[in-house]
Amino acid sequence: MILPPATLGMLGGGQLGRFFVAAAHEMGYKVWVLDPDPHSPAGLIADRHLQAGYDDFAALDTLADACAAVTTEFENVPAETLDYLAKFIPVRPGASAVAVCQNRIAEKSFLRDNGLPHGPFAVIHSEADIAAAPASLYPAILKVARFGYDGKGQARVTNAAEALHAFHQFKNEACVLEQMLTLDYEVSVVLARDENGKVKCFPTVENQHTRGILDVSIAPARASGCLRDSAQEYAERIAERLGFIGTLAVEFFVSRGELFVNEMAPRPHNSGHHTIDACVSSQYEQQVRALCGLPLGDTTQHSASVMVNLLGELWYEGGEPHGRYREPDWSILHAVPGLKLHLYAKHHARHGRKMGHFTVVGSDAADVLAKALAARAAIG
Ligand code: ADP
Ligand code: MG
Repeated sequence: MILPPATLGMLGGGQLGRFFVAAAHEMGYKVWVLDPDPHSPAGLIADRHLQAGYDDFAALDTLADACAAVTTEFENVPAETLDYLAKFIPVRPGASAVAVCQNRIAEKSFLRDNGLPHGPFAVIHSEADIAAAPASLYPAILKVARFGYDGKGQARVTNAAEALHAFHQFKNEACVLEQMLTLDYEVSVVLARDENGKVKCFPTVENQHTRGILDVSIAPARASGCLRDSAQEYAERIAERLGFIGTLAVEFFVSRGELFVNEMAPRPHNSGHHTIDACVSSQYEQQVRALCGLPLGDTTQHSASVMVNLLGELWYEGGEPHGRYREPDWSILHAVPGLKLHLYAKHHARHGRKMGHFTVVGSDAADVLAKALAARAAIG
């Protein structure tokens, strides 16, 4: 077991890393963050911010010297970086699990090979692959295999000609072409798995997206107990097959009452933010525990919760791209009983950028949802 006052390493300095730093600090650990961004939200509160690229081996040596173990909040850390660090200190999750989650082709192949439910898709490396894709895939979404997030690197296409056009716009990068499913709704499961293979899931969450970006998460999901349980079972199976150690998130589509795995994230997840305020142990505390070899914490959800993301447009008057830039009136949110506001201290608000979130907690799920939606409407 790695115990305080040990220093832990975090690759990536976004809001997920920032919450990890906060959880680790509460538990008595120190954290060093590696992120090239001088304004990185996690770097701002870390014990040390190594401002360097993920492929900067001198910085990796410094990190390995200082830290007892290292984890990540960002799936696009190069697998070589994780492999290199693993020569010196425990790296959790490991490079091979991260590699599956950071490439949509590897991810889809993993699902297929492990008998996990997923939507119809084709792997696209070339124009010929588009020509060979079955017409039954359309309408479809072309997604770049690597580095997409929040709906970026995705194009909705209704036929092969449009798919070809989108492929060219993505500079002929490797892609997957996914059938557009008719969604009843979306859910996700966040879990933690320790080095002995013990798994603890948080209750299944229901997610609403707007323009490809998570907007609202309702926890627990309003789905049937049976569907919530099967989502957890699939997520556990994925964690086991990946040999995963750490916090893992699995996103699902529910289409015509059936579950399909959408994608995995080898890290805490936006749809698990509510675990800070609504669960005994948060997804970030679980990440610390799994990293350090501590027993996993209690994932019991003690309050119903609804999480709402706060995007950059809120900083622009009227939500307009050219609206006046100003700080939203946070006093509106602070006045709502049961509402917890979390701001990430990002340097500058951009449209579509996740700047913060709030979670409303309470004993009555319908009341919590109504309060959260009213608060969202009130803040703009
Ligand atoms: P990201 O990495 O940006 O989260 P996703 O693949 O999860 O990318 O897509 C973002 C959102 O777009 C999904 O949560 C869903 O709302 C919608 N979407 C993506 N793929 C499909 C699909 N095949 N069918 C229907 N909706 C989809
Ligand atoms: Mg997603």
